[in-house]
Amino acid sequence: MSTENPATAARTAELSARLDGLLARIDAAVETAGRPAGSVRLLPVTKFFPAADVAILHALGRREFGESREQEASAKVEELAFDDVEWHMIGRLQRNKARAVARWAHTVASVDSERLANALDRAAQDALAAGERIAPLRVLLQVSLDADPGRGGVAPPDLLTLADLVAKAPGLHLAGLMAIPPLDVASHVSFANLATLHTSLLAQHAGATELSAGMSGDLEIAVEHGSTCVRVGTALMGARPITSA
Ligand SMILES: *Cc1c(COP(=O)(O)O)cnc(C)c1O
Repeated sequence: MSTENPATAARTAELSARLDGLLARIDAAVETAGRPAGSVRLLPVTKFFPAADVAILHALGRREFGESREQEASAKVEELAFDDVEWHMIGRLQRNKARAVARWAHTVASVDSERLANALDRAAQDALAAGERIAPLRVLLQVSLDADPGRGGVAPPDLLTLADLVAKAPGLHLAGLMAIPPLDVASHVSFANLATLHTSLLAQHAGATELSAGMSGDLEIAVEHGSTCVRVGTALMGARPITSA
């Protein structure tokens, strides 16, 4: 990273200060929840921000990044060419993007249908065979916490069937659960529901330990309800330049 460019130096100082504050906020939430130190990871969400910002966060020690749009993500992955970074696809994904995503994503956090899971399985197996990836694609099932299908997520009654399918897929590794709480329900109610669903998933799939929950505005409540990974954009990067998808 160039330290000669004053704009880069200013952005580095800004991101460094926000990152320190955010990590302290997560540590405080973990302590308040009475959970072991270090039990919640930060996934910085860099969607809508330039590769230069990701490079700064990498220089500050971050090794995982969340992106929500395939084309934007693959462009950054290619430009930065890190060999020590795990990229997470956290946004809604169409099946026709499965091949592209399987080339760069360490984790897809938004798997919510059998058709998408099957497409990703085939794509990941092909990418493995072609030497484009070295491990199966890590998958989080996105579960819906309301009745609105527009927000994405598998309906809770269908969760365990989808989990069984992913667990058997040779190209996939079932790692856990993800959710985006509905805006019109109190966060603690949604995250409590999510925790119950995670418990039922773990009863069938003991390895599915990840619970990706909590964003800039609600991470403390998610941590109280068992989140193992908070996905934070705004509180780290600043307001997104355009409305997020
Ligand atoms: C954008 C996004 C986030 C980050 O949200 P902030 O409120 O900016 O922290 C988290 N999760 C998903 C799925 C997102 O698309």
